[in-house]
Order: sequence, then C-alpha cells, then structure tokens
Amino acid sequence: MTTSHANVVSIVRYGTRQDHKSEVYLNWGIYGRPDEPIGMDYFFWVVETGNRTIVVDTGFSSEGGANRSRTFLVHPTEAFRALGITTEEAPEVLITHAHYDHIGNLDAFPRSRMTIASAEWEFWTSGMERRAQFHHSVEDAELDQLRRVHAEGRLRTFDDSIEIAPGVQMLRVGGHTPGQSIVLVDTAAGTVALASDAVHYYEEYEDDVPFAFVADLPAMYAGFDLLHRMEADGDVQHVVSGHDPSTLDRFGPVDDGPLPGLVARIG
Ligand SMILES: [Zn+2]
Repeated sequence: MTTSHANVVSIVRYGTRQDHKSEVYLNWGIYGRPDEPIGMDYFFWVVETGNRTIVVDTGFSSEGGANRSRTFLVHPTEAFRALGITTEEAPEVLITHAHYDHIGNLDAFPRSRMTIASAEWEFWTSGMERRAQFHHSVEDAELDQLRRVHAEGRLRTFDDSIEIAPGVQMLRVGGHTPGQSIVLVDTAAGTVALASDAVHYYEEYEDDVPFAFVADLPAMYAGFDLLHRMEADGDVQHVVSGHDPSTLDRFGPVDDGPLPGLVARIG
C-alpha cells in the first residue's frame, strides 16, 4: 500500500551565478543595509511517491541560460537522465511559474501531463508577456512550447489548489508572478514546502525583504505570511527556497549515487 509518507523529495542544484543584494532585492536601499555580493543557485525538484515520479519545474535551457550568462553545473536534461527520469516514463510535470529558469526543457517530456495555475497560464498568454519588465524573465520559444503543451491537451490548470497525488498538493500564492505556486509534500520527515520563487532566499523570507522581480507585491508578502503561519501551526516542517545557495547544505547533499554533491533528499 502506498501512503503519503512514502513520498521522497529531491532537491537538484543544476546552475549558479553571482550577483549583489541591490540587484536581487526590491529597493534594497530603503533598508539602510550594506550592499553585498550574493550567490544565486538554480534548482528543480523531484517527488517520488512510491509508484510515480513527479518533476517540479524543468530548469533553464541552454539558450535561456546563455542569454543571461548563467552557469550550468549540470544540464537539466542530463540530470533527468542521471536520475533515471525518462521521456518514456512520462512523469507528471508541475510548473510553479513560467519564468525561463523554470520552464526551459519542457520539450524533454513530450508525453507528460503538465500542471500550472490558470492565473499563470492566462497571464503569459494575455499579451502582457511582451512588456519589457515581464519579458525579461521569459523566452518566447519556451512560452510557445507551453502553448503547444496546451494545444496538445496536456496542460492541466487549477485555480487555487489541486491534489496531485496522496500527500502532494499544489497551491497558488501569486506575488512573484500571477500564478506563482508552491508544492506541499507530506514525507516521513514531515511536510515539505517547495516554495519555488515564492521564497527565492531564506533572508528574503526571514527578514521580509521581497525579491526585485514581482508582479504583485502585497501577494508576495501574503505568501511569506502563509508560509510563516503554516510553519507556526506545524503544518510545514521544511521550507525549500527557490534559489538560496544554502539550500542543499540545509538538507545535506548526497555524495554517493547520481550527481554527487548536487542532490539533497528529504523523506
Ligand atoms: Zn526562479
């Protein structure tokens, strides 16, 4: 029998770059804190339920990374192969939002069903995606790919939340993008919140300093509040950030097995 406690979460670090706090946080100057270098890591996540594999986001593509001078530690498609995640298996793909570093490589899963918040799908096909402040974070070819997934009847949308599998729930919080979603996974080690870009950095979440790129600032703050409340109420034991370089170390990278040093497991 499969129970939700059979769920295991893998955090896969596939890319990295260096930046400054004044670039990654919104209006950093208002806090009177020094500008400092800050790294940014790039992740995708995998949930194994015991009988299914669920991929949460698919990383940036070669083109999307090159256009922004990002560094691959491992190409996501190579990482999927190393982890035994195959096209044939057609794992469900959850899309937390449609930015280039989360929907590059959707074409690696030509038979998979994909799930995205309806607010996210509608926003990126509304014409608003052509405005410079939003277009900066997407690749046209990748939005076209998302449209193809929709045209092929493989894109499932939801309004507020959806149960993906026993103990696996996707929840729209908005903020960073209109349909930014988090994924809650019950595991033997407690409930994991894959925050994706609802929380890029732990400092962002703990010090209440929103990220520079934001579609709806009150919703972004409300997303922090929701996660803090879930932690305080004991509904979430582990918050997994979308981009914090300390993330793997918090959960202990695995040194043996595929992708040594690039994967941490919870559950
Ligand atoms: Zn991101």
